Amino acid sequence: MMADVLIKDSGKKGKGVFASRDFKQGELILTIDTSATIHKDNLQYLPLEEQNHTMYIGKKKYTVMKSPERYVNHSCKPNAYLKDYALFSKRAIRKGEEITCDYSLSSVDPWEMECNCKSKLCRHLIRGNLLQTDAAFLKINRKYIPKWLLAEVE
Ligand SMILES: [Zn+2]
Repeated sequence: MMADVLIKDSGKKGKGVFASRDFKQGELILTIDTSATIHKDNLQYLPLEEQNHTMYIGKKKYTVMKSPERYVNHSCKPNAYLKDYALFSKRAIRKGEEITCDYSLSSVDPWEMECNCKSKLCRHLIRGNLLQTDAAFLKINRKYIPKWLLAEVE
């Protein structure tokens, strides 16, 4: 199942997910296991560690992310994006590169996170709520937002 990616240390960010082969643009990198779901109202009863690794899957439901997807780090210049419930390559990715995605494009909750991804496009303060995201940013990134999520926020 994990032949295409591997989990290893990513320095300050803790663990990360890395390509264990080359990917062409638009290739499936990994599918996200959404079999275990939890309603928004019950998130508060999860241990904090689990709460920090949930992903919104629509209709007020979340999934607690499993491995390897829970170790995918954020970047303001990511090489992967979420489509349906899977990660696809946004551009060609070389074996050994870290797989990253933009957390803002798949969240509806009002969290904030500092970022130091060192990309020229770094937004420094990352916001979780798609609705509060700058309109120009949303427009540019629209095609990298899962359709089911766009349907809920627009
Ligand atoms: Zn950044």
